[in-house]
This record gives sequence, C-alpha cells and structure tokens, in this order.
Amino acid sequence: MPGPSPAQSFDVVIAGGAIVGSSVAYFLKHELGFTGSVAVIEPDPTYARSATTLSAASIRQQFSTPENIRLSLYGVDFIRSLKARFGAEAEIGFHEGGYLLLASPEGLPILEANHRVQAAEQADIALLDPAGLTARFPWLSTDGLAAGAFGVTGEGWFDAHSLLDLIRKGARAAGATYLQGRVAGIGRDGNRITSVTLGDGSTLSCGTFVNAAGPAAGDVAALAGIALPVEPRKRFVFVIHCREKLPGMPLLVDTTGVYVRPEGEYHICGVSPEEGPDPRPADDDFEVDYALFEDLIWPALATRIPAFEAAKLIRAWAGHYDYNTLDQNAVIGPHPEIGNFFFANGFSGHGLQQAPAAGRAIAEWIVAGRSVSLDLAVFGFERIAAGRPVRELNVI
Ligand SMILES: Cc1cc2nc3c(=O)[nH]c(=O)nc-3n(C[C@H](O)[C@H](O)[C@H](O)COP(=O)(O)OP(=O)(O)OC[C@H]3O[C@@H](n4cnc5c(N)ncnc54)[C@H](O)[C@@H]3O)c2cc1C
Repeated sequence: MPGPSPAQSFDVVIAGGAIVGSSVAYFLKHELGFTGSVAVIEPDPTYARSATTLSAASIRQQFSTPENIRLSLYGVDFIRSLKARFGAEAEIGFHEGGYLLLASPEGLPILEANHRVQAAEQADIALLDPAGLTARFPWLSTDGLAAGAFGVTGEGWFDAHSLLDLIRKGARAAGATYLQGRVAGIGRDGNRITSVTLGDGSTLSCGTFVNAAGPAAGDVAALAGIALPVEPRKRFVFVIHCREKLPGMPLLVDTTGVYVRPEGEYHICGVSPEEGPDPRPADDDFEVDYALFEDLIWPALATRIPAFEAAKLIRAWAGHYDYNTLDQNAVIGPHPEIGNFFFANGFSGHGLQQAPAAGRAIAEWIVAGRSVSLDLAVFGFERIAAGRPVRELNVI
C-alpha cells in the first residue's frame, strides 16, 4: 500500500480501512457509481489489531431495537448476495447456525418483549420452552431456564478476514485509493472539514471526511474538535476444545452473559462484562485475562453444557471493542453542523454485521444527501449531542 504523495486532493477521505471504512468506499465507488475520488487511510494493511479481524465474526437479528434488527437483516442479505456481488468464487464460510439466547424466569418478560419486536421486523426467531430446548439441543442443561430464543435462519458466523478482503478488493477495483498512514490532524474552516494531515506530515485536501477509525473514532473526532464518546474497551475470546460432539450447536448466550459457539473443530467463548469497572485500555494493551476464563466462563459453560466440564483451553486473544460510552449503539450519519464530517462509529460489539448497512447509508448520504435504503435517524449524532441514549437491551 503506497504512502500519499504531497498535496493530494480527494473528494472523500475515509479514516480507517477495515470493515466499516472499506464498506463505505465499496458502496460509494462500486454500488453507487460515485465518480469523485475516494482515499481510504489505514495505518496497518495487515489489520492485526483491528476489531474486525479480532472479533467473534457472528451475526444475529436478536436485538431489542427495530433499527438494530434492520441493520443486521441488511447484513445477512448482503452476506447471502456475495456471489452475485463479487463473483462465484466469493466465499466467507457463512454458517447459519443461529443464536440461542437463554432466559431465566426473571429474564423471560424481556426475552418475550424482544421477540415481539423481532417478529414485527420479520426476523426468523423461535421462542422455545424448556421441553422445546431439550428436544432441539439434548446436550443443554435447562436448569433455571424459562425459555430460549433461537434464530432459525439469518443468524450465524463467518470468516471476518474473508469478508474484509472481498469488500476491500471490491472498493479498490472500483477505484478507491488505499493509502498507508494515520490521520493525525484534521483541518477545519468554520463548519467545514478542508484537509487531513497524516502522521508523516503530508496533507490531503478533502471534500468530505468519514470517520471509520473503529475504537480510535473518539480520538479521530477530537482532531476536528468534536466530542464523540467512542473509546476502546478490551474483550477476550477463548478457544476451547470439547471432545464430545454437540450436534446443531448455535451461538449460545447463557443467562450469565457467557457466550459460546462452534469454530471448526473447536469452540470460542467469552462474556460481556457485568456491571462494574470497564476501563479504557492503553492502545497497545492486548493482554488476556485468563482468570476470567477460569473463574467465570468455564464454570458457567460447564453448568449449562455438562460436556464442557472436560473442555481444554487451547488459546485466547484480546481485541478492542469500538465502545460507545453513551449507549453502546452506532453513530451513523453527518455531524449536524459540520455537514461534511460523517460518523460510522461506536458499534460496540456488532459492527462487523452492521458494516454493510452503515457503509451503504454513508455512501447514500454523500451521493444523495440522505440515507435512502434505511431510516437511520435514531443513530444520528444529534442524540449524542443531546445526551439522549438509544436503549438496546441485547448487548453481547
Ligand atoms: C472480541 C470482539 C468480538 C466481537 N464480536 C463481534 C461479532 O460477533 N459480531 C459483530 O458484528 N461485531 C463484533 N465485534 C465488533 C466489531 O468487530 C466492530 O464493531 C467492527 O469490526 C468495527 O469495524 P471498524 O472498521 O469500525 O473498526 P476496526 O476494525 O477497528 O477498524 C478501524 C481501523 O481504523 C484504523 N485506524 C485507527 N486509528 C486511525 C487513524 N488515526 N487514522 C486512520 N486509520 C486509523 C485501524 O488501524 C483499524 O484498521 C467484536 C469486537 C471484538 C473486539
């Protein structure tokens, strides 16, 4: 990937070239036929520490907010259309295994309420009582469970690298320019972004700026004097081996918040942190907290799926979530005053699956002045400025 040559000028400059930045570039140049110039600025072409490549790479429709469901329904449609979009060779290993969200008697009203919202959005989710759970998942202990919500279709997991590769190649083939560098300064003239300065001191003039810097999005917005509450948060993924076969296993989310799903011959698992301290890590802190597995995850797994009593930890990694500290939901769209500054940030654990929809929406905004395919008003920056959170109950 080349560095920029001096005094370049682009109609659109995108900060961050992982799944979100590449989706914006792809939709702009390929699907919407934007004829202007597009630069994608990415410091690390290997994406070794991007949330995209360190994620659990799963997609679900089981949200509580209709808009989140719509973003992910768009995501699954996009995944299903990869061959039509990128050619017969396009393959990301999508395994439509479903999510299974379990509820205790106390959690049942929320599960049922969420299910009503999902059904209204035509998401294919079945509510199962304990007998139904046992019939479908005989390896599951239903102790303490009132019900489970299972994604019959439209939910599952895939290879994040392959999806990124396809979209990035599609963007480049359609004429987007990828430049290796880090956005280190943003030039502003009143309510317009005019230029971007990179870490090597070179400057690009720009007509429109898109923030797609993932966990660093708050830092990038600050370069333009904008307060965006998006910061990194450390999350861990543990790879385990279980000798017993667990047929038809979905991505299961236990009442404890512990999740687990198959990954080839292994399983991967993790947990959303409980209420309590969840500090911002240092940018280079990717150290794994193994005690979390021993003390919390493994006991919860072995209780819910007795076969996991004998599971062996194979390896683990840490990744940084692009965490919106206001409401753990995406910020998508233009800044209300600085109209040529766009956000595609703060997805907080569901950005991989929502990137195609977000990328399309931002591209439509740039080309047509509004999001045409989806009504994304609820995700606008206005709510951030007003301190008015969007309530999403299913943050995993
Ligand atoms: C452990 C874990 C599990 C997850 N599981 C899921 C899941 O199952 N399903 C799901 O949908 N989502 C999941 N996510 C969330 C998902 O990975 C993210 O929401 C999504 O990848 C965000 O994409 P992005 O392109 O915005 O960010 P990233 O992939 O982080 O990319 C941002 C890019 O910006 C670059 N960058 C940073 N600073 C600058 C700068 N100053 N200038 C230019 N570029 C810059 C970075 O190098 C990086 O490549 C998970 C995340 C983690 C960490």
